[in-house]
Amino acid sequence: MQLLKERILAEGQVIGNDILKVDRFLNHQIDVSFLNSIGQEFFQRFKDERVTKILTVEASGIAIACITAQYFKVPVVFAKKGQASNIEQQVYTSEVYSFTRNATYKIMVAQSYLDAGDRVLIIDDFLANGRAVLGLMDIIRQAGANPVGVGIVIEKGFQEGGALVRKSGANLQSLAIIETMKKGQIVFR
Ligand code: 5GP
Repeated sequence: MQLLKERILAEGQVIGNDILKVDRFLNHQIDVSFLNSIGQEFFQRFKDERVTKILTVEASGIAIACITAQYFKVPVVFAKKGQASNIEQQVYTSEVYSFTRNATYKIMVAQSYLDAGDRVLIIDDFLANGRAVLGLMDIIRQAGANPVGVGIVIEKGFQEGGALVRKSGANLQSLAIIETMKKGQIVFR
């Protein structure tokens, strides 16, 4: 998606060798009309998949998932992180290791919000080492639902997530794939 690549080049900040901050339009301040074009792009790419639900993980995936869901006209479910203290129902859970935080956290979705017949589109902001997406796929599998696609705004192609998710057989669509960002220089695939 050309417009996205231009925004990343103009406004992205590279931290060290492997973290990209896009707080100016996606992760802190949100450019809603730009996010709307991202939602439309996801709709174009997955509109034939008969999606019945969009699944993401809190927090930064929620806005992207919601704006995308308006085109599919389906509900968004977001996995909650941490302990299940405020969820009383039965839940599906999975463990996610975060390389950026060097810690494992739990994600959970109440069983009542994912059905065996659901055709689930996963949406997230970044794909790095793939653990968040694989955790969401694990939850979909526990529900007996069908993962019909994975839509990612920015894939960091130099980390292993893209390969892992593609190897799982998922239809992964990343709107921008960064090949390298050494010395602050962003190169797209
Ligand atoms: P993964 O599980 O693929 O290793 O990491 C994905 C999650 O970590 C995303 O949901 C995103 O919130 C966060 N993340 C990973 N890399 C980056 C990055 O370079 N920039 C930002 N802003 N978030 C990242």
